[in-house]
Order: sequence, then structure tokens, then C-alpha cells
Amino acid sequence: MRRSRFFLPTLRDNPKEAEIVSHRLMLRAGMVRQASAGIYSWLPMGFRVLKNIERIVREEQDRAGNQEVLMPTIQSADLWVQSGRYNDYGPEMLRIKDRHERDMLYGPTNEELITDIFAGAVKSYRDLPQKLYHIQWKFRDEVRPRFGVMRGREFLMKDAYSFDLDYEGARRAYQSHFVAYLRTFARMGLRAIPMEADTGPIGGDLSHEFIILAETGESEVFCDREFLDVDLLGRDIDYEDPAALAEVVDYFTKLYARTDEKHDPAAFEAAVPEARRYQGRGIEVGHIFYFGTKYSKPLGARVATPDGGETEVHMGSYGIGVSRLVGAIIEASHDEAGIVWPDEVAPFKVGLVNLKAGDADCDRACDEIYAGLQGAGVETLYDDTPERAGAKFATMDLIGLPWQLIVGPRELKNGVVELKRRATGERQELPLDAALERIAG
Ligand code: ATP
Ligand code: MG
Repeated sequence: MRRSRFFLPTLRDNPKEAEIVSHRLMLRAGMVRQASAGIYSWLPMGFRVLKNIERIVREEQDRAGNQEVLMPTIQSADLWVQSGRYNDYGPEMLRIKDRHERDMLYGPTNEELITDIFAGAVKSYRDLPQKLYHIQWKFRDEVRPRFGVMRGREFLMKDAYSFDLDYEGARRAYQSHFVAYLRTFARMGLRAIPMEADTGPIGGDLSHEFIILAETGESEVFCDREFLDVDLLGRDIDYEDPAALAEVVDYFTKLYARTDEKHDPAAFEAAVPEARRYQGRGIEVGHIFYFGTKYSKPLGARVATPDGGETEVHMGSYGIGVSRLVGAIIEASHDEAGIVWPDEVAPFKVGLVNLKAGDADCDRACDEIYAGLQGAGVETLYDDTPERAGAKFATMDLIGLPWQLIVGPRELKNGVVELKRRATGERQELPLDAALERIAG
């Protein structure tokens, strides 16, 4: 993409309404624009990142054996009346009447709908287990939408649902999600720590929030510093091997990590030596939760059992805040100059900077490099504008692409290009071929 054609409305100054750095940088880097409180339009730069995050989430869901579906944003109130949540949900739910005065709502989550889909189709234990997910916009009329896309009213969520014959099966589904989440967030360059979370009336220990440590987070967290060093991605896992899954989950659940809701100071002190105690704030990017027959009971999701009986299926739900992650990644990865995108989520891999646009030699060289990068499938933002060098560098640092490839008359004369790695600030002059090799490697 040529910057001269790209819809990239950057801002030089910090917008006053933005309280936290990710919100400021998203507005300054032209990624989103507020449509109304807590509701955003995604501009090309932001949408590219959102789609990359969505792709990683989808790949890891598929790898774990989950099947993608797509449920609507607008739901009928009927199922919610049946589950009892039409009353319980409160003002966060956006309630709508259609032209026939029927009660509808903009889905804040999908347990009811997916349970109904399942109940209509599956009648026997032979068709279990099932794991379905979708990636869809949700609406929650949050009391205090704030921090940009981090606490929006309309936001993109991945929500998955598992259906099993019994608790043991549900536990395996839970563990496969646990491992899939470790992989998902690690691929985004994040250190998301699985923390014990509230299970409500269900009880047990199958509820974890995945939390990124950040001062601007809304949760207060307590954990073992060992989490700051361990390899969260780990080796490739065989999702068909329950023992392998259990081993990973056991390792992580042995280390102390809890949000304030579950925190127990005495247990913390007993489990973690003082030097390793971490207390701080964090951003919740995912939540996995076993809730037994809470929805299968009222919505009639029953299957025939091997012994000729019938039982309600055991369910779990597994959410990831896809749009929240865009902000959360920036909170975790930025510096004074701007965003520092981890490679896998970056909107473009390379920013090609023509230091003297209009100069025939520079234009020719840059056009050639650009064509070569495109031919090789390397996503490139080519700054072909006549802006002065300082402004171009500032924009490149602000938008945070992993690599900057800088070409000017002096470099051309010496037969080199300058390559800058955004994350480290390291700059190097080297022949074009060598630069392209480093970018590819
Ligand atoms: P929170 O405590 O932050 O309100 P929640 O417990 O309501 O989250 P879930 O219902 O578990 O969240 O939703 C799954 C994921 O969706 C969360 O882990 C979070 O990443 C994301 N999410 C929830 N609410 C919002 C929101 N208002 N804006 C953006 N993302 C959100
Ligand atoms: Mg909430």
C-alpha cells in the first residue's frame, strides 16, 4: 500500500478524551474513530490489526478441534426468558422491539442460542463431545464505557461452547481451551497469565481469567513471578492426548495466580516466597468457565446415555475479547514514540521510507523494492509522500511496523539501504539483498 493513497488520518497531538496510552495511540495512529460512546468504526490501519488477531484466534480454535459457526447479533428474547436471564441481565442488555412488538435483544453473549441449536440437533451421547465457537460483535450497555476499545459497548468477541456427557468430559474440553489460550496469546506476543477466577454458584476450580499485566488494567491481581519467565507457548501440543493437556494445565494451575475476587493473602504467602510475590494490575483478555447444566437444564439440552437413560449435557463457555486485544497489545507493547507491534499482529510487516520522493533515482529504487516486496508477499506500507524525513520517521515509529526500510540518495550512492527494527531501535546499513533476508528471516 502506498501511503499517498492510504486512508491514514494520523494525529500529531494527544487527543484529550483518551485517558490511557493504547487509546491515545490508536487515535493518533488513525486506527479507529469513535462513532458514539463505546462504539467505534475501524479504519484501515486498525481493521488490519483486528483481522490479524481474529485470524490467530481462529487458527488456534481450529487447531484445538473447535468448529466455527456464526450466530446472529440480534436474538429473540424467548430463549432468555426460558433461561431466566431476561430478567437477571439488567441494563447492560440492549432490548429492542421489532415492528410486531416482539421482544428482541442485541446479544451480549450466546449461551442460550447455542444451547438451543445444540438441543435441536443432538440427542445421543454418540454425538458428543461437541465444541462450537463463533467470532461475532456483542453489545453490552456498559455503565462506564472507557479506555477506547478496551471497554466498549459494541465489541468483537470469540465465544466458544463445549457440550459433554459428564463432568470428566467437560473438564477435558476445559483443559483443551486452557492450552489453546496459552498458545493464542503467546502468538500475539503477549504474556497472558491464567488466574483463578470466580465460579459463582457452580463451585469447583474450572474458571480462569487470562490476564495481561498492565498498570492501566481494571483487575487487581496477585501472582507468582515465575509466570513472568516461563515459556507460555511451549511445544506443540496433541489435543487428542488428555494426559498431555492435563500436564500443561497442572503445571500452570499449581503456580499462584488470582484476581482480587479469589485472592487469599494467607494462601499467597504460604505458596510464594516473598521475593517472587507479584501484586499489580491486569487486563482480562479471556475467560474460560465450566458451568455444568446451568443452561442445558432450562433449555432442554438432553441426550440419551449409554445405559439407556437420559441426561442434561455439561457445558462450558470460553471467551476472548478480540477487539479489546488490540488495545491490550498496545498497552503491553509501546514506547515514547508510539506502538511497537509484535510481528504476528502488525498491520504491515515493513514500512518502506522514500527519503526523497520526487527524486528520479530514489523513486525508481523504491518502486522496485516495493514491487519486489509485494511479489514476495511481504505486506508493505510504502511512504512515497513528499513529507520531510523527520515527519516520516515520526509517523513510522508511531504506527509501529516491525521493520523500517529507509532509502535516500546517500544510501543509494553507497549501494545500501538502512534497516531499522522498531522493537529494539537497532539500525543497520546493508545491501538490499541482505536487508530483505533479515526481514524474511
Ligand atoms: P469484564 O469483567 O472485563 O467486564 P466479563 O467478565 O464481562 O469482562 P466475559 O463475559 O467473560 O467478560 O467476556 C469474554 C471476554 O470479552 C472478556 O474476557 C473480555 O476480554 C471481553 N470483554 C468483555 N466485556 C468487554 C467490553 N465491554 N469491551 C471489550 N471487551 C470486552
Ligand atoms: Mg463485563
